[in-house]
Amino acid sequence: MNGPERVWEAVIGLEIHVQLSTRTKMFCGCEVTFGDPPNTHVCPVCLGHPGVLPVTNEKAVEYATRIALALNCRVADRTIFHRKNYFYPDLPKAYQISQYDLPLGIGGYLDVEADDGSTFRVGITRVHMEEDAGKLVHAGGASGRIDGADYSLVDFNRGGTPLVEIVTEPDISTPEQARVFLTQLRNLVEQLGVSDVNMEEGSLRCDANVSVRKPGEPFGTKTELKNMNSFRFLQRGLEAEMERQIDLLEFGERVVQATVHFDPATGTVSSLRSKEEAHDYRYFPEPDLVPIELDEAYVQRVRESLPELPAARKERLMGQYELAPKDAAILAANKALGDYFESLAAATGEVRLSATWVLGDLSAYLNAAGIDVSDSAVDTEMAAGLLKLVADGTLSGKMAKEVF
Ligand code: ADP
Ligand code: ZN
Ligand code: MG
Repeated sequence: MNGPERVWEAVIGLEIHVQLSTRTKMFCGCEVTFGDPPNTHVCPVCLGHPGVLPVTNEKAVEYATRIALALNCRVADRTIFHRKNYFYPDLPKAYQISQYDLPLGIGGYLDVEADDGSTFRVGITRVHMEEDAGKLVHAGGASGRIDGADYSLVDFNRGGTPLVEIVTEPDISTPEQARVFLTQLRNLVEQLGVSDVNMEEGSLRCDANVSVRKPGEPFGTKTELKNMNSFRFLQRGLEAEMERQIDLLEFGERVVQATVHFDPATGTVSSLRSKEEAHDYRYFPEPDLVPIELDEAYVQRVRESLPELPAARKERLMGQYELAPKDAAILAANKALGDYFESLAAATGEVRLSATWVLGDLSAYLNAAGIDVSDSAVDTEMAAGLLKLVADGTLSGKMAKEVF
């Protein structure tokens, strides 16, 4: 491709919100749930009544620390909460308890495996804790529940759910890289056992910042795509927004810093509103919460409790099974697929055959069906039976594929 668009390159940084799967909310004892009747998991604290006192959820701090450590961040020995003030009907206190200049984790990175087997590193600026807002339900309109209604309803069940926000450095240089990064970040967080990471239900949400520039030039003005709720939309939204910015610049116009909305149905982006600056939020330290001091022993305990992470698993799979780096990377990035391979290899004693089958026929079938390996009708026991017949020469590979 050598059209004029090749002259421009993207600069992308992501802000990812992870809902933690703690039993209770960030600062009160209400249960964290999904899909229950509206306003059935609320109390004076998460409804922001005057005079109440929040108390920090210890489990949420532990989960956030796990994420920070898995992303190679330095965990602050002293961290505090701030109030981020803004008015919106889903935020009963008119401020969100968040973190500002003393976040839990700073200065990390994630090494990401590209589809072609190469790796790239994305810096992690910060990992901080905050609380989620409630949810507005628009009663009328095209997607509404009540014909002709011109009002919205609010459900505070989600309000106060513990969130971790992960902010990356602007190290991502293509929309495809952004998709691959988010996919691997999701796998990582899933393996930490701290979140459902379900994008449709909103337990993993991604805002994407993007600007374009000519190689070697300073960063351009960025815009922000809010709430990209699928990997595919993230990539497509960034591609569309890049194109919009390039068109503007090619015509000698300026990119205006703004929040933009991507409409997957039409594939187009539209500008929503100019973005708030930090000073618009009038951040100040939350006076009702004590600072959190995490000593070295605590951080060490959390570090030791981490499961095997994808980077370590890739190395182990290469060593233990003599897998090619690319194959090991795929199996390490997808925990369920990696587990499937390891139990199949153990059951059959046929490492090569198991790897070939899992990465070949099985993956092709899963991709085509659009399902996860955990939803496959063929479990490892059945697959082991099949592969044994291939190993002892009863079936050819082609016949096995047919049986499968
Ligand atoms: P803001 O203060 O506008 O929120 P931040 O500096 O906090 O901006 O950055 C927010 C996100 O935007 C980060 O993920 C960062 O990597 C990314 N970012 C910063 N500058 C740019 C830029 N020029 N182009 C694209 N992304 C950027
Ligand atoms: Zn509550
Ligand atoms: Mg910011």
